[in-house]
Amino acid sequence: MELYQSRKARFCLLAVAVILAVLAFALYPVQKPTCKKLAEGTAAETCLTVLESGQPGPAVFVIGGVHGDETAGWTAANRLAKETKLSSGTLYIVSPANAWGATHSNRLTAENRDLNRLFPGGLDGDSSERLAAELFSEIEQANPAVVFDLHESLPKRANRDDLGSSIIFDSIDGIEDLILGMLLETQSGGLCSGPFTCYTGAPIGSINRIVNDTLDLRVITVETFREDALETRVQDHLDLVHYALKYYDME
Ligand SMILES: [Zn+2]
Repeated sequence: MELYQSRKARFCLLAVAVILAVLAFALYPVQKPTCKKLAEGTAAETCLTVLESGQPGPAVFVIGGVHGDETAGWTAANRLAKETKLSSGTLYIVSPANAWGATHSNRLTAENRDLNRLFPGGLDGDSSERLAAELFSEIEQANPAVVFDLHESLPKRANRDDLGSSIIFDSIDGIEDLILGMLLETQSGGLCSGPFTCYTGAPIGSINRIVNDTLDLRVITVETFREDALETRVQDHLDLVHYALKYYDME
């Protein structure tokens, strides 16, 4: 009788454990990132990381290191891919977008081209153009609420814009509150290491200009200032992206 009862108790405990495990899995699905190769097998090969929350919601697309020597942008985007826990929606991350440039501390690609002047790219072109075309297509398919393109600005010199810590956009249609909230928070000291300013007018061939004009999707280019410490720049990038993820109830 005692043996029977102890077996019965063990069976009940096991059943409860299985039910709890199933419930935990259903409530908190495993967020295992997937990596999709872009420009596979070429000098420009890199990875599109997709983080699925398992819950319905918007998409956000983050690109770091289109200019390979702008270390803070791709360091922040890499960290985002490892550390983000989404509660809804999908996060797409391409980092470093210019992987060859990141490895060689070079703004340009292996073919000596500025990736951020090649959009929308061309599948029949060199590896830089092919990467631009594949990345452009992935953004179109993801149809994100906003695209972040993470860069760094250099100190003022002749013939160069003095961008400092800033965000750049061609249009704020549909993201007015997000942009305004971000800027005000940085101005009041509640977000980032200091105040961010804003500019419009992204260059021809840039992700910002082309995605905005041809796909009618909003893009925010973030420039952190190279004179600030690397960790400060990385954290500023992360603060702005997390602000947007919270704005869209994605975390
Ligand atoms: Zn740049």
